[in-house]
Amino acid sequence: MKPQQHTVKLSLLRALSKGGFHSGEELGDELGISRAAVSKHIKGIQGWGVDIFRVQGKGYQLANPLQLLDESVLNSSVATPFALIPVIESTNQYILDNARELDSGFVCIAEYQSKGRGRRGREWISPFGSNLYLSMFWQLEAGMAAAMGLSLVVGIAIAEAIEKLGIEGIKLKWPNDLYHNDKKLAGILVEMSGQAGGAANLVIGIGMNLSMDENVDGITQPWTSLNQITQIPVDRNKLAIEIIKTLVSTLEDYESFGMNQFVERWNRLDNYLGRKVKLLMGAKEIEGIAQGINEQGAILLSTPQGMQSFIGGEISLRNNE
Ligand code: ATP
Repeated sequence: MKPQQHTVKLSLLRALSKGGFHSGEELGDELGISRAAVSKHIKGIQGWGVDIFRVQGKGYQLANPLQLLDESVLNSSVATPFALIPVIESTNQYILDNARELDSGFVCIAEYQSKGRGRRGREWISPFGSNLYLSMFWQLEAGMAAAMGLSLVVGIAIAEAIEKLGIEGIKLKWPNDLYHNDKKLAGILVEMSGQAGGAANLVIGIGMNLSMDENVDGITQPWTSLNQITQIPVDRNKLAIEIIKTLVSTLEDYESFGMNQFVERWNRLDNYLGRKVKLLMGAKEIEGIAQGINEQGAILLSTPQGMQSFIGGEISLRNNE
């Protein structure tokens, strides 16, 4: 998908994001298109999950304020190369498709994903402009064996980045979701793009809810968004910058020092520490009390059979209280 597609829709959104009503005629004049074309493009934008309403005689207005990501703001604060591609199928897929040409640390960030994905092919709901969708390419020198640890370290980095902005109560659910008050705030999806020498080429994807409409369809479990937590809109550019910076420095620490220092940092943030949980592994379920993680990144459960550790991409953790 070429980034320059959707230019008209993005220009319309830029005009609407200034607030207030904008007539079809005014928007058409500004963009050099007809009122009918404006109406058609507005429908397309609504299909991206943006709530726009029209009042006879006044024109179009956004139902909710919209702060767009700003390339120049990101550019002035982020040291790693990045691509801001407003409308994309999936930021992870973009990195997978372009991995050969990318340097470690490269970031792809979007306003909307038409095919956002979670673990095991599940969909990640990704409406335009109301959340954060960000993927980073990372060449992990330590190789595949360290990838499980890396995916936990990414969760720690994101939670700590949010804390740096003064937002409290962010928790982690093993292996890599961010929670707040037992509701999902963000998901992390680490995929492998290949191996080069001993290094593993990884794609680290993050989807975080910021101001998503409460009535959005397609989410089967309790979820929350940052604005619900803070009650005031979070600056999307600032948040993206903090996440990118913290992610790079935390991953560099992981490469240098390994998992050691992260076990304690994980356990401080663990949403289920000391709570009754169950692990789903295919048809098998294991119940126990969550006891944090070990240095391999495995989850520890105290069970009637004693302390047990579990690791692997096919395991799902569920509350069992
Ligand atoms: P597991 O615990 O097995 O990882 P999960 O439910 O956390 O399960 P993910 O693959 O991390 O699974 O995420 C996909 C699931 O997340 C979807 O099935 C959907 O229910 C939910 N989901 C999708 N989009 C969002 C979103 N924007 N915010 C919160 N949850 C979402």
